[in-house]
Amino acid sequence: MKIAFIGLGNMGGGMAANLVKAGHEVHAFDLSPDALTRAAENGCATYTSAREAVQGAEAVVSMLPNGKIVESVYTHDVIGQAPASALLLDCSTIDVDTARKVAQAAETAGYAMVDAPVSGGIAAANGGTLTFMVGGSDAAFARAEPILSAMGKAVIHAGASGAGQAAKICNNMILGATMIATCEAFALAEKLGLDLQTFYDISSKASGQSWSMTSYCPVPGVGPASPADNGYQGGFAAALMLKDLNLAIEAAASAGAKVPMGTRAGQLYEEFAAAGNGATDFSGIIKTL
Ligand code: NAD
Repeated sequence: MKIAFIGLGNMGGGMAANLVKAGHEVHAFDLSPDALTRAAENGCATYTSAREAVQGAEAVVSMLPNGKIVESVYTHDVIGQAPASALLLDCSTIDVDTARKVAQAAETAGYAMVDAPVSGGIAAANGGTLTFMVGGSDAAFARAEPILSAMGKAVIHAGASGAGQAAKICNNMILGATMIATCEAFALAEKLGLDLQTFYDISSKASGQSWSMTSYCPVPGVGPASPADNGYQGGFAAALMLKDLNLAIEAAASAGAKVPMGTRAGQLYEEFAAAGNGATDFSGIIKTL
């Protein structure tokens, strides 16, 4: 299949390479010359504009930094430029309202579009083991599924347009809040004289258990290997957690939902990132507690 790919950064670079490996003809565009050089090394054909890359495409995949950029790229360079038969898949993490607005504009112009944000970081993008949460019609999902499967281990239909973004930010709001709660509990346990491995052995089998504890323990040397064992490098950057929490807080304001824990988690990650820890793994927030 001829697939245009726009945004070949940390995540998109590996995703596009996996589409090539699956036998697709990938037409790549990124504003960064370095990203384009890497894409060419991975077997993509490269273009000097998004408009050129989408010519004749059967599908367009994007992996871009934020909603403003996604809206601008689709409005100016994809809609009306790609064939109307092309399926449009935006895999970026963006706000629900923009995702719905862009999909509506695409549908008005005759395209099928899905929002398909991912769970999993750069290693999962490179390894083809991402989880995709997809928002769009049943027909659009059926067309998107085989394309996304070439880049991930799970492709889940979350609901109508925008539902993929909604699932992603609700999930990451739980993650942000449970990580801080887990960090607090370990810090308190230590001050109360508990051995941290012993506390892990108890809480990981008791009602305090969560993914943040048993899959991504913020204490070095406790639980399975995690960024804590690597000086809180790699993994999921605090700045990206903050981005997702802010999207959840904005969505809550727009939908009239109360998210006091998500809001507090956002404030704490804001302070953590502002103190120069934006690139640190999000579990590194334990150092502030
Ligand atoms: P990145 O900054 O590494 O990549 C984004 C790429 O988009 C860059 O190469 C940039 O040059 C390009 N770009 C920006 N504006 C453009 C435009 N107008 N036209 C073409 N290219 C343009 O970011 P990333 O880490 O790859 O993240 C991409 C998306 O994936 C974000 O929405 C992020 O929230 C989401 N995400 C990231 C991770 C992660 O661990 N990095 C995990 C899950 C989801």
